Amino acid sequence: MLGQMQDKPLLISSLLEHAERFHPNVEIVTRTAEGPIHRCNWRELGQRSRRLALALQKKGVRQGSMVATLATNTYRHLELYFAVMGIGAVLHTINPRLSPAHLEYIVNHAEDEMLFFDLAFAPSVEKLQSRLPTVKRFYALGDQESVEAVAPAIRDFAGYETLFADTPADPSFTWPQFDERLASTLCYTSGTTGNPKGVLYSHRSTVLHNQVISLSDSLGSSADATILLVVPLFHVNAWGLPYAAAMTGAKLVLPGPHLDGESIYALLRDERVTLAAGVPTIWQMLFQYVDANGLKPREELCLKDAVVGGSAAPRMMIERFDRDFGTFLLHAWGMTEMSPLGVVCRLLPKHAGLSAEQRYDIQMKQGRAVYGVQLKIVGEEGQRLPHDGKASGRLMVSGPWIVARYFKGDGGLLDSEGFFDTGDIATIDADGYVMLVDRSKDVIKSGGEWISSIDLENAAVGCPGIAMAAVIALPHPKWQERPLLICVKKPGAEVDKATVLAYLDGKIAKWWTPDDVVFVESLPLTATGKLYKLGLRQAFKDYPLPG
Ligand code: ADP
Repeated sequence: MLGQMQDKPLLISSLLEHAERFHPNVEIVTRTAEGPIHRCNWRELGQRSRRLALALQKKGVRQGSMVATLATNTYRHLELYFAVMGIGAVLHTINPRLSPAHLEYIVNHAEDEMLFFDLAFAPSVEKLQSRLPTVKRFYALGDQESVEAVAPAIRDFAGYETLFADTPADPSFTWPQFDERLASTLCYTSGTTGNPKGVLYSHRSTVLHNQVISLSDSLGSSADATILLVVPLFHVNAWGLPYAAAMTGAKLVLPGPHLDGESIYALLRDERVTLAAGVPTIWQMLFQYVDANGLKPREELCLKDAVVGGSAAPRMMIERFDRDFGTFLLHAWGMTEMSPLGVVCRLLPKHAGLSAEQRYDIQMKQGRAVYGVQLKIVGEEGQRLPHDGKASGRLMVSGPWIVARYFKGDGGLLDSEGFFDTGDIATIDADGYVMLVDRSKDVIKSGGEWISSIDLENAAVGCPGIAMAAVIALPHPKWQERPLLICVKKPGAEVDKATVLAYLDGKIAKWWTPDDVVFVESLPLTATGKLYKLGLRQAFKDYPLPG
């Protein structure tokens, strides 16, 4: 027998409608590219999004049309989120840091019809436009004045604000209702190996994911929260937080292109941010700014939780947030293919009496599965491994916001139980806490055993004088592979191989000790701010290990 409840589709437009109706005056604050702060609220964002939706329909955008953005975190980008998805078109958020070849590949692969870009990216769009035949219209995001001042030489081009000038508000406009399984957003993985692959989210998967990330035991969003999105709107929908903010009526703070320590610190302080989200590299920059200026974040800020994901959070980051900021580092793990949230590291009631050091031990773990996500770890033959905190295997996931097949892909992604292979190696303990050992392609296979590059890097960045560290595997005649540690020094620091190895002594298993330590000026990062291991492996492929 079927239930007899109303069959209302779960649509992204309903989140905005809710924010507009129940939290109309809550602010959305943007640090604009030009510098000044722009303020609007959920009511105005709702009004502008509806007007933009009408304008897009007038320009021929239909259900299923692909509309691309090449943009940082601003209220205009957020308007596009709600306007495009609200009418059943698909928002394809592109990472502007991708190489021109990858940009060209994904716009053509997605068959984008319109491309909206921050004015700062006009030069790359100018260069690429002739190789983007599917794009019928290009729009620059910015004030009309700034757009006219730059006047990019781009065919079929206009300023974003002209869409509003040409389309008066229509009070009779309501968001169309359609099947919740329709596609809403398209995100490509960063393609560190081969061409990027597209993940196509639906309204249903997005709304379900959003309800779970908003829970207080998860990332947590609420009407008294102020959320700073350092994580870009082009990186897996800013981890879903813009939707969570709309659903719960949180205040949103968007840094535009300004991600340096000084700008982030000012937003945290001036906007009274309670929850911020970003990858570890962002927080490292913030710490450097705090140190260089002798600031007192614990006194000046009210940051309750800092969500850290995308790469492992080093212990020293957890400790610094706790000690100097009074902030809980909320470690989370997921990926583009998972919308992205899979696990989040909150403490359990039984952890209440732990010492700070014991808490940090737990916070180093990526966390426990949120409702809706099923996890398993499997061995070489696909057999399930025990959740004992010791056995490590490939981490597999399933759930309603996890990819079933790649965009225009052939399928065949899932195992016989419907699980997706994340490409990560992990342990899961008896409480369900997942601890990532490594990405399967980054783990170092030495003498038939695994060395975790993540653990080694985390240990190395704790060494005084070391700003950043990366560990890669180099081929070895006897052990198959051995670790090479590549470090960047803090400005003015006196540190050498012997100091680093002495520091690591006792903190890692003896046989994990890197065979060599080299120092470089900087480490290459991927388009999402992670260590670009593939690039490092290429750069050091002929490096002779001592002995
Ligand atoms: P990209 O391809 O740009 O790296 P994703 O964000 O999809 O994009 O990357 C997901 C991967 O990032 C995961 O499979 C995992 O290897 C890594 N990752 C994400 N969160 C964490 C974390 N908290 N700790 C360690 N690794 C993480």
